[in-house]
Amino acid sequence: MRLVLLGPPGAGKGTQAAILSDALKVPHISTGDLFRENIGKETELGKLAKSYMDAGKLVPTSVTADMVRSRLDQEDAADGFLLDGFPRTVEQAEILAEILADKSTSLDGVLNYKVSEDAVVERMLARGRSDDNEETIRTRLQVYRDETAPLIDFYSDIIIDIDAEGTVEDISSATLDALNR
Ligand code: AMP
Repeated sequence: MRLVLLGPPGAGKGTQAAILSDALKVPHISTGDLFRENIGKETELGKLAKSYMDAGKLVPTSVTADMVRSRLDQEDAADGFLLDGFPRTVEQAEILAEILADKSTSLDGVLNYKVSEDAVVERMLARGRSDDNEETIRTRLQVYRDETAPLIDFYSDIIIDIDAEGTVEDISSATLDALNR
């Protein structure tokens, strides 16, 4: 199954993707994790991404899309994947469609994790990642509203709304139920 996980930062997409990855036997591909790996290894890509991430801004699409393209070329992603954190803009969604069309395939669905801003701010402050300070959180929520939320319309044909306010278990069973329908 080829799925995208959509939702504001702090919606719990990463946690859900890890659970779904086990259940569906497809790799969890998180662009944020890929960037953080590159930062850890001090690669050129990592150095470039870090300044944007620390500010809560989007890493340029050209760089991000190349990274995603080569990750999707790996064999484990041939029959399915869970994309977490990509696409984040309509431009990136169009690039993803091209990447998949080149492989004669397309997305099966887009999981839209719905959660209030109060809840996401609380979750992000609790997780304590280096880009989780109050100012960066505010910027990332603004970027989500302006750039990422339009994807809900873009994907209206294949969107699957999930209530993401409950416990981790509630949310993962709601997701699996929705996918089984
Ligand atoms: P995440 O782990 O998904 O919250 O992403 C952390 C940070 O990585 C974001 O705030 C962005 O700076 C960067 N990032 C992750 N995915 C993307 C993307 N698709 N496009 C641009 N920047 C991204």
